[in-house]
Amino acid sequence: MLECIVTKFGGSSLANDEQFRKVRSILELEPSRRYLVPSAPGKRFAEDDKVTDLLYLCHSLASEGKSFRDQFLKIRDRYLSIAQGLHLEIDIAAHLDEVEQGIASGKGRDWCASRGEYLCALLMADYLGWRFVDAAEGIVFHDDGTLNPDKTSEKLAAVLSDRQPAVVPGFYGAKENGEICTFSRGGSDITGALVADAVHADVYENWTDVSGFLMADPRVIDSPAEISSITYKELRELSHMGASVLHEDAMFPVHRAGIPTNIRNTNKPYHPGTMISKNAPNELSVPTITGIAGRKGYSVISVEKSMMNSEVGFGRKVLQVLENYGISFEHMPTGIDSMCVVVQSEAFELHRVEILREIETLVENKGSVSVNDNLSIIATVGRGMVHNCGTAARLFKAMSRARINVRMIDQGSSELSIIVGVNDSDFESTIHAIYHEFVE
Ligand code: ASP
Repeated sequence: MLECIVTKFGGSSLANDEQFRKVRSILELEPSRRYLVPSAPGKRFAEDDKVTDLLYLCHSLASEGKSFRDQFLKIRDRYLSIAQGLHLEIDIAAHLDEVEQGIASGKGRDWCASRGEYLCALLMADYLGWRFVDAAEGIVFHDDGTLNPDKTSEKLAAVLSDRQPAVVPGFYGAKENGEICTFSRGGSDITGALVADAVHADVYENWTDVSGFLMADPRVIDSPAEISSITYKELRELSHMGASVLHEDAMFPVHRAGIPTNIRNTNKPYHPGTMISKNAPNELSVPTITGIAGRKGYSVISVEKSMMNSEVGFGRKVLQVLENYGISFEHMPTGIDSMCVVVQSEAFELHRVEILREIETLVENKGSVSVNDNLSIIATVGRGMVHNCGTAARLFKAMSRARINVRMIDQGSSELSIIVGVNDSDFESTIHAIYHEFVE
């Protein structure tokens, strides 16, 4: 029996009064769902506004001395219609007035943006009859605007210690001087994870508008299979390569605490979604691969130097050049007297000439430096690959059947993923070839 579940509902799950009703029935299905972290109301239809975007707009208009009345009216209407649709008693109009005055009086950008979650949580707490706990009382930021995880754990655990059902607005917290700070966009996921950690939840449920993760990007593969179970490490590999449902920083607190995260669909409450855990639960059979994700737009810097192999510290010096320009490298396959460093083209482009000049100085006329652009990197990820013979053979055979030239290969000893580099023009066909080899 689960004792305590923390739920987080995304913006589309809270876009109108009908969505609020769905949220309440989801909570009623399972009494262990005792904490709720809401985002701000999102889009009701494709061309609709997200409340957070409107708040940012109001703040920037106000700071330019322009009228933000029309934009604020849209925000006001949204909250009033939810309150009316649910017959709530809370005087949300008075809270909206305070927010409007705050924006007009020059409150900071983060304060303005955070009010979307704040107002939404007030409505939800009233609707459910639960306690409202302001995130500013439990989520602590350093003066530089980054999260203070230790203080947050301590304070959040203290304000939620009575274990009474509570609604805690997502996306923001406060510095010790009381100034409101927000996470980056999508940051309510982080608040949910922090609350789950603080109350030692059995599960962190993240309710959104999709039924979990898919094995590949649906823009590339038609109706890809769903992932029912994945580990945090696998997910980290996939999300680094572009697969995103959850804010990347939301994984750390729950992963560390060993709390599984369950991605669920508010519009399909009985669908089990995707379960993300530290170690996948006892599985009868593990699929060979869990998912495929990739990105275009990488460059490979190839460095050759005779006797590089015996020159201690050469690799470090090359990486130091990149570090000096604030560029992180993605992969670094090496040969005896050669090394390749894969970087994101966008960042590299800014200092391309200087970087190449400095690396050429290190080569000292004993070799060459060249760059190949338009590289895509595709990661095939799966805990089922460990100790499993033939996975790489199958993957490369599938690529060769599709006549795809492999430009780079990288596989760590953890055997969690096989990374291939191909021309950008082969990006889609590579994902098709691998997916159809392993999945269908
Ligand atoms: N409302 C914020 C955003 O739109 C945070 C969130 O939804 O998680 O980014």
